Amino acid sequence: MNNRERIEILLERLPLLYPDARCLLEYDGNPEKLLIATILSARTTDNTVNQVTPRLWHEVHDIKGLAIADRGFIEDIVHSLGFFRSKAKSIQNAAEWLVENNGLPDTIDGLVQIPGVGRKTANVIIGEAFNKPAIIVDTHVGRLSGRLDLTRAKIPDKIETNLKKLLPEDRWTSFSHQLGFHGRRVCTSRNPSCSTCDFTSFCPKRGV
Ligand code: SF4
Repeated sequence: MNNRERIEILLERLPLLYPDARCLLEYDGNPEKLLIATILSARTTDNTVNQVTPRLWHEVHDIKGLAIADRGFIEDIVHSLGFFRSKAKSIQNAAEWLVENNGLPDTIDGLVQIPGVGRKTANVIIGEAFNKPAIIVDTHVGRLSGRLDLTRAKIPDKIETNLKKLLPEDRWTSFSHQLGFHGRRVCTSRNPSCSTCDFTSFCPKRGV
């Protein structure tokens, strides 16, 4: 079975397995706040970020407030997320950029101009906040793309490019979320549950 055939099966089965798949970062509908949450989610779980952002926005109120807040105060708020110094600096740099540039661009090329924003974060915003097609290559999608041999690429940008060629555009965002859910719930990094996985029959890495 080649990767296009595997993709066809996944496109059929994933929506049935994960009809609830979505971005798990909680925000109030303001895309700029989603951007800050996404930056904070590096190397930690979305759930952990969701426990921190309500206090953050309660204290600083909005992007302008975040931009001018005391750095040590922000470090204290995001401390539990790990890498707290770099994360506090990143979100304040991004907030300053948003204030100086009058808000959030709605293109990948525009979004990656923001300090601390790479393609993964930009794609979260494009897919979630702007409701445009986006391939979001987080750690789960990267891992599953390799295990299911959808692409041999190792670098997230290249994985994104290759998945775009394989998937219909109107499924880019939903496929990303659904594959990510499978990575969280079944095909975890250290202990993939191949015995209960729905893709065992065609997964080249079953039993890893
Ligand atoms: S069969 Fe195993 S390695 Fe393959 S996708 Fe399922 S859990 Fe992951």
